[in-house]
Amino acid sequence: MAVRSANDIHELIERLLRQGDLRYTTGRRAIVDLLCRVGQPVSISDIESQLPSIPRSSAYRHLVDLQSVGAVRRVAANDDFARFELAEDLTEHHHHLLCTSCGDVIDVAPTPAFEKAVTTMIEQFAEREGFRPFSHSLDIVGHCRECG
Ligand SMILES: [Zn+2]
Ligand SMILES: [Zn+2]
Repeated sequence: MAVRSANDIHELIERLLRQGDLRYTTGRRAIVDLLCRVGQPVSISDIESQLPSIPRSSAYRHLVDLQSVGAVRRVAANDDFARFELAEDLTEHHHHLLCTSCGDVIDVAPTPAFEKAVTTMIEQFAEREGFRPFSHSLDIVGHCRECG
């Protein structure tokens, strides 16, 4: 789910980090590179196997920092299965199917008709509360094909 080039994404993230008084270190850059390359949510174990030079604890810290400046988003069916992806501001709007059995995360791109229906429904109940909606996130929890 990337419409921007990896270079653009690096530039935007460098700016976000700088605003948060954080440097775009080699480790953080390597993780962002991986997220760009894979193009779907990755787990800490994925990062560990793809980037063996980065210790697990550092990978966690980098992800927390990247989350804190809005560059990365945590996606999870439950606490056992945390995955991380680039924030939607850097990629594009999408939804997730989350398997509670194996932790699989499937990115799904909504059709314009789907988005229109969801937005209309959200506007209806937000209006009742005097709430002004900016965006939504919709993750569907269940079992994937393999887990039945
Ligand atoms: Zn599954
Ligand atoms: Zn949506």
